[in-house]
Amino acid sequence: MYLPPKVHSEIAALNKIRYLDIDFSQVHVYVYRETRDGKKAMARPCPACRKYIQQLGIKKIHYTTDCGFAHEVIE
Ligand SMILES: [Zn+2]
Repeated sequence: MYLPPKVHSEIAALNKIRYLDIDFSQVHVYVYRETRDGKKAMARPCPACRKYIQQLGIKKIHYTTDCGFAHEVIE
């Protein structure tokens, strides 16, 4: 059975658009995650994804948490 290499969703999504003519300083990243029974779950980008997001010049990230949503500005 072939198993594709695992890439976090943020990187998979951003890889599809990273070479487009986009002003990434205006881009917001939204990461949504839920448990199998439909409850929101922590989806804060990991350090590697945050670094990738930051390198593209993206400053605003939004993600689900165990109890709702959170927003951060990356400098
Ligand atoms: Zn990650």
